[in-house]
Amino acid sequence: MSSLKLDVAAIRNQFPALDQTIQGKPLVYLDNAATTQKPECVIEAVSAFYRHDNANIHRGVHTLSARATDQYEAAREQVRQSLNASATEEIVFVRGTTEAINLVASSFGQTLKAGDEIIISALEHHANIVPWQLLKQRISITLKIIPVTPEGELDLGALPALITERSRLIAVNHVSNALGTINPVAQIAAIAKAHGVPILIDGAQGLPHGPVDVRAIDCDFYTLSGHKTFAPSGVGVLYARRPWLDELPPYQGGGDMIETVSFEAVRYAPPPAKFEAGTPNIEGAIGLNAALQWHAALDWPAIKAHEAALLAHATTALEAIAGLRIVGTAKNKVPVLSFIIEGAHPHDIGMLLDAQGIAVRTGQHCAMPVLQFLGAPQGTVRASFAFYNTLDEVDALVRAVHRAQHMLS
Ligand code: PLP
Repeated sequence: MSSLKLDVAAIRNQFPALDQTIQGKPLVYLDNAATTQKPECVIEAVSAFYRHDNANIHRGVHTLSARATDQYEAAREQVRQSLNASATEEIVFVRGTTEAINLVASSFGQTLKAGDEIIISALEHHANIVPWQLLKQRISITLKIIPVTPEGELDLGALPALITERSRLIAVNHVSNALGTINPVAQIAAIAKAHGVPILIDGAQGLPHGPVDVRAIDCDFYTLSGHKTFAPSGVGVLYARRPWLDELPPYQGGGDMIETVSFEAVRYAPPPAKFEAGTPNIEGAIGLNAALQWHAALDWPAIKAHEAALLAHATTALEAIAGLRIVGTAKNKVPVLSFIIEGAHPHDIGMLLDAQGIAVRTGQHCAMPVLQFLGAPQGTVRASFAFYNTLDEVDALVRAVHRAQHMLS
């Protein structure tokens, strides 16, 4: 049962990196869409692995190798549970969302022909644009783009007309990193299904803001980046429905992804090993397991209420600043505030905020097309909140923006 009142102080206590000063001021960490801080349980899990169990997986008969293998495979089971996938075979460990989408573009791409169509949206991160452009250069596929509205929402009314008999995949993000828009992914998946087109969801920004159920969304592919969900960097997940993993060719070749090798022929291991060539990020997967167990035990109704309060307070307070425009005003948003200030370059604002202890990101946020479209060619200042942030930190941001604006005028 949720009390609907989140004990933010108790959560913050679990994040040692939040408790420090920057240039003599308490750190206000508002760059969570770039990466999240790590709780003690994740730091401890990675450290314990190095202290006691470090070995390579899957190929050793010795005890440490068996322990490392067990922990790595336990992480896969935790990911399965966290995403509500039907089987661990559907969980492929990769470096992150970028690698997951490149894997699909490369492997699924081999099943495509010139003139086949991939549909993405104008709201995508470069990780869900560039792999398809590379494929376009290789085999002349056509890229079609779902437009966005001036508020930064997908214009889904335009989607059915983009779908033709040559459409092979729809690939869109769950939550926009640049604007915070939450896309109605189950609705998009239903449109895709009605037209018999598979769908990939770039979930890099989804799980950090709430539980995800890939079967409820009814998607073919879903991607994760561990570091954005309180886990270590360099580990992520591609979820794919089992038939895809049976059908698609491997992404990379090497150890662990084969059953037999001779100079004449190779027989691949069954999924997911078929897509995990070479030594993986074992400690990363173990840290991801700790992060996801911790995430699953959180009071999500209370977190959602807290994130909604952060968003509402930050929106009202920032909008009241003369000359400031929030870019991206979707109705359904996570607490990500992208903004520009008349007459001030986003980088200058970012530097002046850092001098006051406030960490934000400035620039294009790897989403140039949407920022160009929304009239922010120099990019924006982006304050991206996690549930460990407080309403006092919103006030600190607003005071610091006022001061920065004053210094630049
Ligand atoms: N997609 C979205 C929506 C993102 O926010 C990011 C990272 O910012 C990525 C993809 C790429 O993730 P990674 O750099 O972890 O591979």
